[in-house]
Amino acid sequence: MTFTARPTEVPDELVALTRRLGDPAADLVVLAEGNTSVRLDDDRFAVKASGSRMDVADAADFVVGELAELIAVLEDGAADQAELTCLLSAGVTRASIETLVHVAALAAGAEWVAHTHPTAVVGLLAVTDAEALWSAPLFPDEAVVLGEPAWVPYAAPGITLGRRVHAAIRERLDRDGVPPRLVLLGNHGIVALGATAAEVETITTMAVKAARVRAVALSAGTPAPLDVRHARELAGRPDEAARRALLRRSPTRSQEAP
Ligand SMILES: [Zn+2]
Repeated sequence: MTFTARPTEVPDELVALTRRLGDPAADLVVLAEGNTSVRLDDDRFAVKASGSRMDVADAADFVVGELAELIAVLEDGAADQAELTCLLSAGVTRASIETLVHVAALAAGAEWVAHTHPTAVVGLLAVTDAEALWSAPLFPDEAVVLGEPAWVPYAAPGITLGRRVHAAIRERLDRDGVPPRLVLLGNHGIVALGATAAEVETITTMAVKAARVRAVALSAGTPAPLDVRHARELAGRPDEAARRALLRRSPTRSQEAP
């Protein structure tokens, strides 16, 4: 069986991250929206089960699966939704239908993945020209923390969305040698990829801030994004890389603006 319930193997840090992201005050998800995952040893990963709530998650709300089998589904053009649904079953608990989004991120080298539907961001992923609105950062910290997000137009959750996210991440990996830190899903939500739980939380928080800044900019006039080359410099500068390393380890409250 591809997925099994193994609560003793689910890291406490994954449960804690999931609960923080699910906090209603953060407005990132409601009800059973959103999911988190982390890479485990032996090419396995833990991902949130289908139908469970993030804000009250415990170790029993996750299932453990094998990456290789799911990557094969992503890369096998003949696999269909019925085959995926069958693979996601884990006894009485089923892995999230969005599991392939996590598999695509983990396959590209992410250690931690958080997928949420923040109200502030989804609203600005559901407007005409959303891709253009997010094509360049509006302020330096956005560039530093988010880098260049990958864009995936709306696709039905399941195998179609999984394949499109996989293709977008692979394209960026081939171009830059590293996966994107953030994937924007049109009319849907965001996927944060990181080396630590703190990093995916930081990326999620900054994506919400970036959405709010866009909303303010749009209400005041026409947004004037940073020059893309300057944004790339900010995202890649050694001192900014050091700041990102700090963000991976600690809460963000003491970070200084550039
Ligand atoms: Zn979703």
